[in-house]
Amino acid sequence: MTLKDKVAIVTGAASGLGYGIAKRYVEEGARVAIADLKIDAANAAAAELTKLGPGEAIGVEMDVTNEDAVNAGVAKVAATWGRVDILVSNAGIQIVHKIEEFPFADWKKMLAIHLDGAFLTTKACIPLMQKQGGGAIIYMGSVHSKEASPLKAAYVTAKHGLLGLARSVAKEGGPFKIRSNVICPGFVRTPLVEKQIPEQAKTLGISEEEVVKKVMLGQTVDGEFTTIEDVAEVALFFAGFETNALTGQSVIVSHGWHIE
Ligand code: NAD
Repeated sequence: MTLKDKVAIVTGAASGLGYGIAKRYVEEGARVAIADLKIDAANAAAAELTKLGPGEAIGVEMDVTNEDAVNAGVAKVAATWGRVDILVSNAGIQIVHKIEEFPFADWKKMLAIHLDGAFLTTKACIPLMQKQGGGAIIYMGSVHSKEASPLKAAYVTAKHGLLGLARSVAKEGGPFKIRSNVICPGFVRTPLVEKQIPEQAKTLGISEEEVVKKVMLGQTVDGEFTTIEDVAEVALFFAGFETNALTGQSVIVSHGWHIE
């Protein structure tokens, strides 16, 4: 039970990667706040995970772009369990357009969810972690933190930005034993990606099978999707690594799509 007695907040954990990470943490004994826009789904996920145990979970309503909502959500977790040891800033969406056609409102929405969300949750958790004598902050980056793809300018910009935030948090957090790292997954079959398959097929004029084979997995070493479990394992590793030896880093989990 690597995370026994630890308290974690995972944003966007009502679905996909966030849920998988929350589940892995509960398996290791953690108390996990499922922080999500969708409170009904967050509560349902929390009930499910508490049943699985041995840790437990609660649902927390949180729009990560709203400072008051973030502060209230983090305060609720601190009031419930007395501390916050791990923050996983994971909530995210995808919006694709050519740059010259990218609606400014969509650009701002993307940067708000990915970057403002990461900043606001970090800002709210740091004082608690300082007081406790340490903590782990994990950002959900992407292979798109490292390279670009057409139509994804806002996503690529935001995911690159997370590397800068993580490195800054590592430098400022060091004296307080607050570690900060980024996970950079390749394509994982979550609702976010399932939605993109027919969209890309239509935009590119190819079949859905070709989107998967060529666009999503064409540059992997084995044509395979990264799984939620793969990413959750890395999130567990970062959460359980207790010294400043590993901070300010990013790990790519992508079946060799991007190698550096
Ligand atoms: P998902 O759609 O399954 O889950 C995203 C969750 O975020 C949803 O529960 C949604 O309600 C929540 N959310 C959205 N906006 C929010 C907001 N403003 N405040 C709080 N919660 C909000 O998607 P996923 O694939 O699990 O993606 C999770 C993260 O992983 C994202 O940051 C995404 O960019 C990143 N990622 C995904 C993949 C992939 O292939 N699926 C690859 C690399 C990185």
